[in-house]
Amino acid sequence: MKSRPERVVLLGHPLGHSLSPLIQNAALRAAAIPLVYELLDVPRSALDDTLDDLRRQHAAGNVTVPYKEAVFSACDRLADTARAIGAVNTFWTAVDGALVGDNTDVGGFQAAVRQLPGLPRDGETVALLGAGGAAAAVLHAMEGWPKARVRVYSRTRHRAEELVQRFRVPAEVVSAADAAAAGASIVVNATPVGLRDDSMPVAVDALPKECVVLDLAYRIGETALVRAARARGHRAMDGLTMLVEQGALSFERWFGVAPDRGAMWNAVKQLSS
Ligand code: NAP
Repeated sequence: MKSRPERVVLLGHPLGHSLSPLIQNAALRAAAIPLVYELLDVPRSALDDTLDDLRRQHAAGNVTVPYKEAVFSACDRLADTARAIGAVNTFWTAVDGALVGDNTDVGGFQAAVRQLPGLPRDGETVALLGAGGAAAAVLHAMEGWPKARVRVYSRTRHRAEELVQRFRVPAEVVSAADAAAAGASIVVNATPVGLRDDSMPVAVDALPKECVVLDLAYRIGETALVRAARARGHRAMDGLTMLVEQGALSFERWFGVAPDRGAMWNAVKQLSS
């Protein structure tokens, strides 16, 4: 059993551009929960002590780069999804004081995909760019997609090779983003390319005519990949929907009730208006 959180934090280092405080504080206000979602920017040398403090404070929270794997190792108990991914993005304190870790990136990705009508179809051929935690979440979600297969490209090839071994999805590792995209029905960017500037993880000319583009990166005004893909007639979505959905699932884990997703979206939309 979990105890009601007495503190909610985002743990990472450095914490600069995260929209999580905005959406989680909107959800807390809408639910009339008298807590403020705090940024907890700690250096690696202070992480273990910080986690001990959070346990004592009956805290809950999210974890972002670079601590998703370190918190996975530090948790006393893990949900199956976190175990499958090897990373924790959501934690809470149980009534016995145990730190429990979960990963809502999988559910967030799945929910984002389902918001595109008709997806996922039988036999999706996915081009997956990147081989980190977000890519692992995509592959774990894809294990439930009928007859899906994946072609993975990442900068460090052996990471992609190791990653695909861990999931039950027929996979091929390729040496270039264009090669991954060839023949794909869905192209997923799970690299940080395009997060801070208008760089593109794959040339837009390499996108097959009918493919759907899912960029897990997000920026105010959308990423260059999403804008360019839409301009060429593709259905395309950036990572904001996944961000809101994984955050909503975290909130549910902490408080046992679904948050007001409309309030979360309104907070995000105010930024771009
Ligand atoms: P990560 O663990 O650092 O993994 C990033 C992966 O991308 C690594 O495999 C890295 O390769 C690869 N990569 C980096 N630059 C590349 C390039 N130029 N070309 C090809 N591959 C490249 O990061 P992550 O946590 O998986 O996050 C990845 C992206 O997903 C980020 O943009 C993050 O913001 C986004 N994300 C979004 C959500 C959401 O809710 N929308 C949730 C989680 C993550 P190396 O092994 O060589 O470093």
